[in-house]
Amino acid sequence: MPEYQTHEFDVLVVGAGGAGLRAAIEASAAGVKVGVVTKSLLGKAHTVMAEGGMAAAMGNVDDRDNWRVHFADTMRGGQYLNNWRMAELHAKEAPARVHELEAWGAMFDRTRDGRILQRNFGGHRYPRLAHVGDRTGLEMIRTLQDHGVHQGIEFHMECTLLTLLKDGERCVGGFGYDRERGRFRLFHAKAVVLATGGIGRAYQITSNSWEYTGDGLSLAFHAGAALMDMEFVQFHPTGMIWPPSVKGLLVTEGVRGEGGVLRNSEGKRFLFDDIPENYRSSTADNEDEGWRYTQGDKSARRPPELLTRDHVARCIRREVKAGRGSPHGGVFLDISWIKERLPNAAEHIKKKLPSMYHQFKQLADIDITKEPMEIGPTIHYMMGGIRVDADSQMSTVPGLFAAGECGAGLHGANRLGGNSLSDLLVFGKRAGEFAAIYARENSVGRIDMSQVDEAARKALEPFDRGAAGENPFTVQSELQETMQELVGIVRREDEMQRALEAIAELKGRAARAGITGNREYNTGWHTALDLDSLLTVSEIVTLAGLERKESRGGHFRDDYPDKDPKFGEFNIRIDKAPDGRPIVTHVPVQPMPEELRQVIEENK
Ligand SMILES: Cc1cc2nc3c(=O)[nH]c(=O)nc-3n(C[C@H](O)[C@H](O)[C@H](O)COP(=O)(O)OP(=O)(O)OC[C@H]3O[C@@H](n4cnc5c(N)ncnc54)[C@H](O)[C@@H]3O)c2cc1C
Repeated sequence: MPEYQTHEFDVLVVGAGGAGLRAAIEASAAGVKVGVVTKSLLGKAHTVMAEGGMAAAMGNVDDRDNWRVHFADTMRGGQYLNNWRMAELHAKEAPARVHELEAWGAMFDRTRDGRILQRNFGGHRYPRLAHVGDRTGLEMIRTLQDHGVHQGIEFHMECTLLTLLKDGERCVGGFGYDRERGRFRLFHAKAVVLATGGIGRAYQITSNSWEYTGDGLSLAFHAGAALMDMEFVQFHPTGMIWPPSVKGLLVTEGVRGEGGVLRNSEGKRFLFDDIPENYRSSTADNEDEGWRYTQGDKSARRPPELLTRDHVARCIRREVKAGRGSPHGGVFLDISWIKERLPNAAEHIKKKLPSMYHQFKQLADIDITKEPMEIGPTIHYMMGGIRVDADSQMSTVPGLFAAGECGAGLHGANRLGGNSLSDLLVFGKRAGEFAAIYARENSVGRIDMSQVDEAARKALEPFDRGAAGENPFTVQSELQETMQELVGIVRREDEMQRALEAIAELKGRAARAGITGNREYNTGWHTALDLDSLLTVSEIVTLAGLERKESRGGHFRDDYPDKDPKFGEFNIRIDKAPDGRPIVTHVPVQPMPEELRQVIEENK
């Protein structure tokens, strides 16, 4: 039996983004021994890319805001498939988590009287996003890291977890390898928190970082944990579309929050023609009112550009299909027009949106203070994920917790912008707290070395096949094309069936993947090892998409274009059957307490 470098922890956190760091800080503060593994270097987790801000009803800019409005907005955005308890906890606890971040050193933008400044974002009734220009994720990661490294947390950077280890029903650690040297690592822990982020790299056009291969969801699924809401994948309406090398790169919703408007090739603000009924009363019906809203006029209603992402993305697609798109297949997003209203517009744009200004100037040679941007939808966020208990964040596997984008429940069928960063803080903290309690209450579990040896053997197989095996990069790229074309922003039964066939074929090829070279920083090997997660989550997204025969939130079916009330009564759950295949079941949406029902009514 080979020897593996072994590490022992009370709580092992997988992921060093906002959720993982916040969980690690909380567990460590509870006095247990905490280790963090992360695929990338510390400071490079995907959270660092977050731009617009974190949603918390502090009421600093509009004192009508409070947790009740935030709760109602989140539920309406999620089309009432959200776990209402998570939405309640999130709305109530987000302000305290933001203030805590500030106390740990985060330098938020300020109101004139020195409070944390909050900006408008899609689907939020009032200005709610605490932000640091358009670099909020960077500040969040910097602050959490600074705080975390002084707590004695042990970090294992550039280390990928390949499998979770079980002792009977319970999760007792994980096994992986360090990416730099290619050596195996065994992590023995009383509790494990997954905070691995999303699945965007299963698609071709994505705003997501290379880490987003769905590992946490796949690890949990193979360990026997239930997944939920996997059909709900969010396409952000505004990604760069030109030049080709940056296709998919995000253009923050903050641009629209600051007054940016969407126009088609005829110069028309097409969103005014398509305002969903349930948002009509809270949406401006003329351009002037929309502008006044973005400038803080409390009597004005939001412009239609700030409707929810699912809706805006579909309207853009419709314009392009109808031949009213921009030269490179998107539409125009224009913030430069505000010079008609503001004397110092160029300086204002550079101050409020510095990253966007540089992004377009350097990558596309466009000066956004002078000309419109070309944009189109890009895959952005995974609403679905690991099913968890709302209060403790424990999955259906004892000892296994999940927080952040890899968890499911808070966002239902569609996430509101800004609700992810606050999700990371609220539920990262809770996951860390309850994982520490679990670790205290349970003894060390037993590691079954046959599970470890089997994982190691499987991981090394691609070397045995060498150049004669399938090229892992080709398999990955064909999967991305399949998901983009057949399980994308608009879905159909026949196309998703074709996707399932293609995924089955790609699974066969992935099992024959071969690579050359040695174990030291071998990107071919890393890609070969990522394939299992990518294929697992892609199959599950497709199965869940087939099951939901209606259109709701991020899931739009061309063959079932309407919302069907009977599909609003359950979430789709996926478990691993004894033969290894995913099985799909329905779990009824839990009835909401009367008090919360009233909160929704009073905010309609
Ligand atoms: C460009 C962009 C802008 C955004 N802006 C905003 C915004 O303004 N507001 C907002 O609310 N949301 C925003 N989002 C969404 C938000 O940033 C993410 O949902 C959030 O950061 C996810 O955080 P996380 O902690 O769950 O995961 P991440 O920050 O992605 O961290 C995942 C961690 O898990 C590690 N990991 C993954 N797999 C493994 C493995 N197998 N083994 C070991 N480690 C692993 C990774 O290396 C990483 O450390 C934005 C997203 C993008 C793409």
